[in-house]
Amino acid sequence: MKLYNTLTRTRDEFVTHEPGKCRMYTCGPTVYHFAHIGNLRTYIMEDVLEKYLRYTGLDVTRCMNITDVGHLTSDADTGEDKMLKGARREHKTVMEIAQFYTDAFFADCGKLNIKIPEIVVPATSYIEKFIQMVTVLVEKGYAYISGGNVYFDTAKLDNYYVFGNQEAEDLAVGVREGVEEDEAKRNKTDFVLWFTKSKFEDQELKWDSPWGVGYPGWHIECSAISLWNLGEYLDLHCGGIDNAFPHHTNEIAQSEAYLGHPWCTHWFHVLHLNTASGKMSKSSGEFLTVSLLEEKGYDPLVYRFFCLGSHYRKSLVFSWEGMDSAKTAYNKLVARIAALNPDDASPLDEETFAALKSRFTEAMDNDLNTALALTALYDVLKAKTSDRTKLALLADFDTVLSLNLLEASAKVREQNKAAAAAKSASQAGNGELTVVCLTPDAGEELKAEVEGLIRERAAAKKAKDFAAADAIRDKLAAMGVTLKDGKGTVEWSV
Ligand code: AMP
Ligand code: ZN
Repeated sequence: MKLYNTLTRTRDEFVTHEPGKCRMYTCGPTVYHFAHIGNLRTYIMEDVLEKYLRYTGLDVTRCMNITDVGHLTSDADTGEDKMLKGARREHKTVMEIAQFYTDAFFADCGKLNIKIPEIVVPATSYIEKFIQMVTVLVEKGYAYISGGNVYFDTAKLDNYYVFGNQEAEDLAVGVREGVEEDEAKRNKTDFVLWFTKSKFEDQELKWDSPWGVGYPGWHIECSAISLWNLGEYLDLHCGGIDNAFPHHTNEIAQSEAYLGHPWCTHWFHVLHLNTASGKMSKSSGEFLTVSLLEEKGYDPLVYRFFCLGSHYRKSLVFSWEGMDSAKTAYNKLVARIAALNPDDASPLDEETFAALKSRFTEAMDNDLNTALALTALYDVLKAKTSDRTKLALLADFDTVLSLNLLEASAKVREQNKAAAAAKSASQAGNGELTVVCLTPDAGEELKAEVEGLIRERAAAKKAKDFAAADAIRDKLAAMGVTLKDGKGTVEWSV
């Protein structure tokens, strides 16, 4: 598989340190608020990558941290801990909000079919390991103590800007952020490994350390959690593109200084989801969440489908129109799969199966081209082969894409069957009105309300109260409901 590597800036063949095994690390969420759908774009693409690596036969061990301490509001090691800010906002303790938003994050992942990594480590559970690592860095001369904090000395490295193709000055944190510089640093790019400085004296969570009571810097957590769980040689490290600098750059600096040898060979970064007005940010009040998508009537998997429709290395602009198109396309895809015969017991057409599968793997092997992989799904539907073969292919691809294609189409098939049975019963003349919903994901509440109104309208018509019947029809139209009257049936869609 060719996969773009931020470290080499080329599409490298993905090779692991130990054949057949892949050690994969993912930067986890900072749990001071709900994840926004931009964060979740990154987790969706990482999920697809992990599932595809497994699909190719690799035995993947994946680890993720939960940032519940140390991530400050500024990359320049200034500002306050985001967790503390969140706790203050909600009048709760840091650990209370950490638990709440960790659970909320996993609930969102569940709705988006994002598999939770087998190893998940909250930063606060690893304080001893961070201290152990910082101690070694101080002993090796890579870290110094100044103004009460322990800093990593970036001047000790030959190549600090591993991810930069910009001039060093452009990347220097103080310049980039336009914030006050930390006077205690020897070099502008040095970063904090352990804070004890009184500047952050209202920090809620503090631990004893050889350098005084304090708390860890943000970067050390990912290095230590990865090293302790995945060993000295990491195959793949993932995150959103904003993590490349300074977070991942600093992780590399401290991990390699600690180990004394190269650490991670492949770096995978997902570009951002933006809105038309710009960057999406958790710290800026209003932002888009999975719950909001649901409130607006979108199945979260429609968002997953939306994300898979574009390449992870292109930034993606979110819009409700884009979501509507994704919803229509997803529902159509599911409806087409529902039209296949699940009871087709003919033998598998091995040749066609292999040919169509290779279109899917070629797309995924080509730097995780999920948009092309979706095209391979449509190729299956168009192919001249048995329904048995088509369904087997779709099931196979969906182990990676996780769009619930077969489950959703089975549901549609059941609904169609029930609607057809009801229609024929009413045509048989039992006089009952049959109401058929043609929008499967309309939501139970809306379905009940619309059905009630349709029955009221029928009753009004029967009583020759046409004004009342028209008023109900107008009300339904205002709700976006389209009606199609038939003999003994009313079909509706929204
Ligand atoms: P955070 O919870 O802020 O630590 O971020 C969690 C993950 O989301 C990290 O991998 C970030 O790089 C990523 N991320 C942040 N903003 C966006 C965005 N707008 N689009 C895609 N990924 C993002
Ligand atoms: Zn990280």
